[in-house]
Amino acid sequence: MAGECDNVGLLRSGYEIIAMSGNSYYLTTAIDYVNAAPHLGHAYEKVAADAAARFFRLIGRDVYFLSGTDEHGTKVEKTAKAKGMEPKAYVDQLVEEFKKTWEFLNISYDRFIRTTDPEHYAVVDHLWRKMLDKGDIYKASYIGQYCSGCELFLNPRDLTQDGDCPIHQVKPDPVEEENYFFKLSKYADALREKIGQDPHFVQPGFRAQEVLKML
Ligand SMILES: [Zn+2]
Repeated sequence: MAGECDNVGLLRSGYEIIAMSGNSYYLTTAIDYVNAAPHLGHAYEKVAADAAARFFRLIGRDVYFLSGTDEHGTKVEKTAKAKGMEPKAYVDQLVEEFKKTWEFLNISYDRFIRTTDPEHYAVVDHLWRKMLDKGDIYKASYIGQYCSGCELFLNPRDLTQDGDCPIHQVKPDPVEEENYFFKLSKYADALREKIGQDPHFVQPGFRAQEVLKML
């Protein structure tokens, strides 16, 4: 998406607007984890994104507005198990609650994508194979402190004095797993060059600094 692409982040987190060309806007919300019923935080983001989508349509832009659900993850698996259900049956039930809520709020998305949709599988499969063929993916072992509430490996310096997750007040599980890694280092020079030349490539600007630091 080089060239005319201009990424206009309207909120610090949450949804983004990406101008794909002069008149066309692609806008997406985060796709929500479906491990519990939708709450006000979910609604806030959808309403804000919906207002932006409606504004751009009103001024004659060609808008594609996406929302959806992320249905993979340890948290979903654990919650489903605790309810004695298969993960897919569990998320199928919950997704209806999400959809009903957005219908009630009149959210005008063009597509509701689920990460269990066959189209989503097909695209992920295609990208995965492409990266594999180019040697961009490798396997390695990762050891860390995993909080399933956060769905994150936590940094030891971020834990409380008792070694708990500061948000969930529980000890994270020591997890060693073999993971797939993306060979970002292969693209580091090209990315540094691109970010250096094009100050609008990553928005907001402070995120560009974070990316550079990580590289
Ligand atoms: Zn946590």
